Amino acid sequence: MFDKILIANRGEIALRVIRACREMGIASVAVHSTADADAMHVRMADESVCIGPNSSAESYLSIPAIVAACEITGAQAIHPGYGFLSENANFVQVLEDHDITFIGPTAAHIRIMGDKITAKETAKNLGIPVVPGSDGGVPDFETAKRVGAEIGYPLIIKATAGGGGRGMKVATSEADLEIAFRTARSEAKAAFGNDEVYMERYLQKPRHIEIQVFGDGRGRAVHLGERDCSLQRRHQKVFEEAPGPCITPEERARIGKICADAMAELQYSGAGTIEFLYEDGEFFFIEMNTRLQVEHPVTEAIFDVDLVREQIRVAAGEEMEFRQEDLKIRGAAIEVRINAEKLPNFSPCPGKITQYHAPGGLGVRMDSALYDGYKIPPYYDSLIGKLIVHGRDRPEALARLQRALGELIVDGVDTTVPLFHQLLAEPDIQSGDYSIHWLEKWLKATY
Ligand code: ADP
Repeated sequence: MFDKILIANRGEIALRVIRACREMGIASVAVHSTADADAMHVRMADESVCIGPNSSAESYLSIPAIVAACEITGAQAIHPGYGFLSENANFVQVLEDHDITFIGPTAAHIRIMGDKITAKETAKNLGIPVVPGSDGGVPDFETAKRVGAEIGYPLIIKATAGGGGRGMKVATSEADLEIAFRTARSEAKAAFGNDEVYMERYLQKPRHIEIQVFGDGRGRAVHLGERDCSLQRRHQKVFEEAPGPCITPEERARIGKICADAMAELQYSGAGTIEFLYEDGEFFFIEMNTRLQVEHPVTEAIFDVDLVREQIRVAAGEEMEFRQEDLKIRGAAIEVRINAEKLPNFSPCPGKITQYHAPGGLGVRMDSALYDGYKIPPYYDSLIGKLIVHGRDRPEALARLQRALGELIVDGVDTTVPLFHQLLAEPDIQSGDYSIHWLEKWLKATY
């Protein structure tokens, strides 16, 4: 096992990893930008290294600075968290060259899944059902028209290098195809430096269902059921739950086995998430994330596992502790993402926290790097906390969420907490009857 791990991240996820390290008797190294000198992850780690100025590009994304921090502190492994360098194959390659263990999959697996076209092809070859669409990239408008006639309308044009919900355009008929195609390409070019796009059938009322997988890198893999992340704004998740309110045990076992078998065949190592759109009992692969997800705690709650601990164990070459037959679901869990944002536009709202009080009690977990007097810097993501509740069943989890939200105090900045109070009053949320479009429609009607 490692003696020391460096966490190449900040905020709540850095804390999450430091906590796992401490329980495992592993020393932790925090890295930080100058803006984060007073951040909680810096205070909580055993050691810390300043790796650069405020901007992410010069700090949390700086590979040389992070490798140097490892060498100075003697850290043997790096946990990347999510975002930043977590899905950067080049980073993983550099670490290999420096004999530093990356806590995650191989550079090759990250590369395959990081390109949406090779990801889809690989998924298809592994027996995973995919959304019908173009075979690979669509180079020009003429081809787009031909493919459009084949797959039918509405369709969605997506950036091969896309991520974070950006670079997607819907065309409802051939009449808007040209504009959608050209805008998608220029947006992709601007956002990702790569204008390749592909096309898919646009599903009308799907749910976003994702399967948590875990592999030992040597051909054993399991699945840990699904999370329903359909409540999204601008393709960004805001509320996630497990198990999915509409998924039957038979469907879970079937799609779960397909995913676990695929990961075993790939010899995938560590945690991963296979994302699907789900409509009328059918699953359609959209992408795979080769890292820990923001919403992993809902899975941890219902399976009573520690995914970060398991990531570290497998990266150190130990046997995977999970066995499929031991993984049984208990109850229901919900996570809400608390962002420092001002409603109704969700504009970022950095600033000083004048008072912070985390909720507690049975079945409540608050993952946050906030503290009284903390100043949220304006340079990074607006996620400031995740409230996760676990109950014996979904109604209990919902009641607990309402209770816990009532206890939470975050003063000094605007947050998304009022949104969740409102959502909990909605019959569709109470019954679990929502698709990926529900939240956008509701926001339009409510604000
Ligand atoms: P990203 O990597 O940018 O998050 P995804 O491929 O995961 O992109 O898609 C993000 C979201 O976009 C999905 O959760 C869904 O809401 C919507 N979406 C993607 N593909 C389709 C599709 N074929 N039909 C309908 N909605 C889609």
